[in-house]
Amino acid sequence: MKKDIRAYTYEQLQQEIEALGEKKFRAKQIYEWLHVKLASHFFEMTNLSKTLREKLEENYSILPVEMLERQISKIDGTNKFLFRLYDGNVVESVLMRYKHGNSVCISSQVGCRMGCKFCASTIGGLERNLSASEMLAQIYQIQKLTGERVSNVVVMGTGEPLDNYEQLVLFLQILTDEHGLNISQRNITVSTCGIVPKILELAKEHFQITLALSLHGSNQIKRKQLMPIANKYDLSEVLEACDTYFKETGRRVTFEYSLVQGVNDTMEDAKELVEILGSRNCHLNLIPVNPIKEREYKQPTRKNALEFKNKLEKSGINVTIRREMGADIDGACGQLRRRYVKTNQE
Ligand code: SAH
Repeated sequence: MKKDIRAYTYEQLQQEIEALGEKKFRAKQIYEWLHVKLASHFFEMTNLSKTLREKLEENYSILPVEMLERQISKIDGTNKFLFRLYDGNVVESVLMRYKHGNSVCISSQVGCRMGCKFCASTIGGLERNLSASEMLAQIYQIQKLTGERVSNVVVMGTGEPLDNYEQLVLFLQILTDEHGLNISQRNITVSTCGIVPKILELAKEHFQITLALSLHGSNQIKRKQLMPIANKYDLSEVLEACDTYFKETGRRVTFEYSLVQGVNDTMEDAKELVEILGSRNCHLNLIPVNPIKEREYKQPTRKNALEFKNKLEKSGINVTIRREMGADIDGACGQLRRRYVKTNQE
């Protein structure tokens, strides 16, 4: 198979191009075509000679990522995209429009093997990792399809980004490179279910990105009920790793907590959350669980969710309830892909 040219950092691309016997500055032009002008074909690169374009075509490919479906919310303008990868696998991505700019939520894997009980993405298990290039392409395609600039990126779609660590880091390097789309590191969030050694490794990279930690339980027993990863890493270890992340990067960690009726939404849960988060400089994001048809989980009532939030707020926790976006389109993580995969298998 030809080499994927979108998967090189700026420095790596310079080396590749020099190895082809070309001048170094050509790499700058090609990088710009790939990561700023978002070219999908070498023939678009009109400031390169025909011979160079042919040479590139012979040695490299720009992997196609094709839109299969686009749903547009009538409520808030949220867009959901279903993309087809070169091998026929599909992933979903979401564009959310906020006052402060456009935010894209991307997938990091095809499926997921983490097994969180309330999550649709994990039901069919893990199919494969996405390459850095396929993570980038989701953002590039959305920018091309909408003609609007993307300013924020959250890696919160299907998959566990820290289970695909190497490609995630490469993706972050390319996305934030000043020669490319140049998205500010501070505008990027990576969400994890809590793979402790990888959190520590990420801390050492010293990116200025936000780490979001999926907590979902205020103690080890509760967390285990919802998240199999808790069998591997104790809550105390996870919290310590988050402290290290903060110490190393100066970036406040966001904790995510999906509120599930009768499972983790009692006042006792709120009290325990205060105990573990009260002393930490962090942000807590409450997400009323998005019910999926394969599971029985329900959202708490609006009133209960507000009571839960107020209790935490009164104790000095920096807390928000996540605004539900795109409620009228296949809402919860992984549902659009899941519907597609099911329809096409049956
Ligand atoms: N694997 C990563 C990122 C993907 S999920 C992680 O676990 O963080 C992004 C967030 O959405 C996580 O906090 C996840 O637990 C949450 N989530 C998944 N399914 C959900 C659902 N049905 N309702 C509410 N939140 C959900």
